[in-house]
Amino acid sequence: MKFEIYDTLSKSNQPVEPADGKTLGFYCCGPTVYAAAHIGNFRTFVVQDVFRRVAELSGVKVKHVRNITNVDDKTIRVSMEQGQDLKAFTQIWTDKFHEDCEALNLLTPMVEPGAVEHIQEQIDLIAALMEKGVAYQAKDGSVFFKIDAFPEYGRLSGVKERELTTDTSAQADDEYGRDSMADFALWKTAKPEDGENVWDSPWGKGRPGWHLECSAMSMKYLGPSFDVHSGGIDLAFPHHENEIAQSEACTGKTFSRLWFHVVHLMVDGKKMSKSLGNMYTLEDLEAKGFTPAEIRYGLIAGHYRKHLNFTVGAMDAHRSNLQRLAKLSVLINEKVAYQPRSYKECIQNVGDADFGRFQSAFDALLDNLNVPKALGEVFRVAGEIEKNPESITSADARGLEEVMYALGLELPELESAEVPAEVKALADARLTARQTKDWAESDRLRDELANLGWQVKDVAGGYELEQG
Ligand code: AMP
Ligand code: ZN
Repeated sequence: MKFEIYDTLSKSNQPVEPADGKTLGFYCCGPTVYAAAHIGNFRTFVVQDVFRRVAELSGVKVKHVRNITNVDDKTIRVSMEQGQDLKAFTQIWTDKFHEDCEALNLLTPMVEPGAVEHIQEQIDLIAALMEKGVAYQAKDGSVFFKIDAFPEYGRLSGVKERELTTDTSAQADDEYGRDSMADFALWKTAKPEDGENVWDSPWGKGRPGWHLECSAMSMKYLGPSFDVHSGGIDLAFPHHENEIAQSEACTGKTFSRLWFHVVHLMVDGKKMSKSLGNMYTLEDLEAKGFTPAEIRYGLIAGHYRKHLNFTVGAMDAHRSNLQRLAKLSVLINEKVAYQPRSYKECIQNVGDADFGRFQSAFDALLDNLNVPKALGEVFRVAGEIEKNPESITSADARGLEEVMYALGLELPELESAEVPAEVKALADARLTARQTKDWAESDRLRDELANLGWQVKDVAGGYELEQG
């Protein structure tokens, strides 16, 4: 079975394979670093991480590029409000983002370019667009892309079909209203509120518009035409439409072959917003006692093409699901004396390995990243195995390991059952009986413990208790 994903552009499932037969170029719009990313942002980043893992585990080599938006309206505004230098300010939030990514077990992209470090590439792109006559300089000095010069504009999001009105009043903002379709800014002329965050260009002092950075950086690191471009669904219009327009108008080539969008996360059935106080960060949830692995589980549990409703109430279920998986993994690995492999070993040795009964779970991931179905399959097989541990094979061990790697779920330590004081006292008394060679008393205490549902095992210098 081949890995397929839903492509927003062709509105159909498409095979995930590199056009050059070698490496899949995968570009993800990264975070805007002016505050801690919230769990909605992380839904998108975690799903993109599962995408990369499934591609790699299916034998596709991936070059993953994710940018850092460290210069735009928001980063400039908030850094100025806080009286901080833009570079130092965005570095703090970039570091925080990396810390959160590590906690959530996200693979590190091969390239993580920052917009502010690529001003020249963005200027070069504008110059090329000016030369082709698809961009123009307005009276205030800003440069705009001429949407009329790109007839294919709107194919990705269907924005034209929605017969929207053109609202030119908002065109200078990085994020003009979703319902406006207007020429957009490539270069924004310097304004007093930009402070020192302006650069020289052939069009005077200013800074690049937000949409430009992703075109300039994706094409620099992946070439003018690459395989997959991804972001949250809110980015399809205008951000991705604008990226397509400015890139294709410049190169005359297909920009990204496939577009992979993640539908938004809701919290308690509502859109996340500051005023509702539901824009949880990883830190907020950790403070409530949840682990990053439990949070990751919650972020991937729903299908990425549907709204996911995140509730704190569901976190307990994620915790017990992870415990059950951890127990299952110990049971399987001990049964067949399996030596777990590293992720790197797994992706280096894909091929015709047999993944036992967990193959169906991996197949669900290959089929447009159907995580809920994959988890359903894992628990169905878990039930079979728990009922009949004799049936375990080493293929099951490889299969479970592979599915856990694909989902990026690190299994927790097994929770040890609390030993009641009465049981502990009986076990201690039995240890004393053994030490004084009172075998009859030792046997009697063993039976008494068994009646209470505890098995005692003698080990050097003491004992171990197990329930059951
Ligand atoms: P930003 O830091 O705002 O540039 O966003 C980073 C990524 O998070 C983008 O791909 C957004 O589309 C995505 N995103 C923003 N809000 C949500 C949400 N509620 N659910 C899922 N993804 C989101
Ligand atoms: Zn982008």
